[in-house]
Amino acid sequence: MKAIIITVGDEILIGQVIDTNSAWIGNVFNEKGIDIVEIVSVQDKLEAIESAIQQAMNKADLVVMTGGLGPTKDDITKVAIANYFGVEMVYSEETFERIKIIFEKFGRTVGESHKAQCFMPANAILLKNKMGTAPGMLIQHENKMLVSLPGVPYEMKSIITDELLPYLQKNHPSSSHIFHKTIMTSGEGETIIADIIEPLLENMPNYIKLAYLPSLGHVRVRFTGKHQDREILEKEVSHYGEIAMKALGKIVYGVDDISLEQSLQDLCSNLDLKLTTAESCTGGFISHKITSIPGSSSHFIGGIVSYSNDLKKNILNVNEETLIKHGAVSEQTVLEMLHGILAITKANVGIAISGIAGPDGGSEEKPVGTIWIAYGNDSNQVAVKINSTKDRLKNIEYASHVALNKLRLFILENYI
Ligand code: ATP
Repeated sequence: MKAIIITVGDEILIGQVIDTNSAWIGNVFNEKGIDIVEIVSVQDKLEAIESAIQQAMNKADLVVMTGGLGPTKDDITKVAIANYFGVEMVYSEETFERIKIIFEKFGRTVGESHKAQCFMPANAILLKNKMGTAPGMLIQHENKMLVSLPGVPYEMKSIITDELLPYLQKNHPSSSHIFHKTIMTSGEGETIIADIIEPLLENMPNYIKLAYLPSLGHVRVRFTGKHQDREILEKEVSHYGEIAMKALGKIVYGVDDISLEQSLQDLCSNLDLKLTTAESCTGGFISHKITSIPGSSSHFIGGIVSYSNDLKKNILNVNEETLIKHGAVSEQTVLEMLHGILAITKANVGIAISGIAGPDGGSEEKPVGTIWIAYGNDSNQVAVKINSTKDRLKNIEYASHVALNKLRLFILENYI
């Protein structure tokens, strides 16, 4: 089944609202084997909406619209739909009763504008909206279907999950299945990854596609297959996924969208390792990432944000001469920070980090983005320098990611 999404709203076109509705619908439909062939955003103008409906209905089997349903938009989407199908708008008593019940719950009375909201295109089946007042609408027309949903994301999601998907399952069961396997990697770019795995995938059936999805510090390698037989599909996608994982080795930190922090937590928990951090330029961001994972207390003892030189000296025991001679952003300083935090916390492994996140504070010798990371344990400590070229927050995020990955690799090499 081919689908097109139309989002309605000037706020999307001027960048005030980011179109997360399409991303969510795309994801959910993809899992159900529905192909999204186009995503269109249009103005809050009757002619623009009508023209988008016209074009989409010519190309797709299913058109899903979001936005322009509530009273604040003069129900413009509904009028455009009624015009397209050449039907009247009819009053829905059922919708009015629902609005009344919702308003009475909050001790409010319904007004005339709500009555106006209850007019629907005559050929629409109403889809219940448990989260708001405007119902969704579904119109079946010559083997094609148009669905119109509220723009508010949680209302749209609830109608799709509770009403639309069960309807599609019953009336248009999918003839093919989609199956993904995503391999999470960190430490190499997509070109190197492609060079490693692509020669091994020459015999991969053409119903399986490979995509590289790079983001800050990591690359997701996603295998997506589509086939009528679910068993064959899962077997084949898993088979080629395994080949790639084996070839990529330690740069793989997990599968199916697991986070690096989760992977590190699993590793530490399995090996009963306690972890600590001493952070300067990342200001606690590494600790935040670690503690964002439920159950992090099983391995994370805690850490220190030693932003000033005084704290580096007084708490972590970094030598004054080290700071004077080499500076706070140096190999020697991060190694002493790591040594200090391991001694204080008695953790098994740790990370220390100090750098220039920017936008100011750089020099010719140490430009913005120069970040030193130390990682290791009591007997073996390693320091690496990275040169990040992004803005302040991205430098912090990237350096935190590299630090966590370096420690993960250290644990793999020293404890397994
Ligand atoms: P209302 O009752 O507010 O008129 P509506 O169903 O007509 O609801 P819109 O007015 O188009 O929907 O959007 C309501 C709000 O929902 C927007 O202000 C925005 O915050 C959010 N929204 C709308 N469209 C999208 C979208 N495509 N992605 C993410 N959020 C959206």
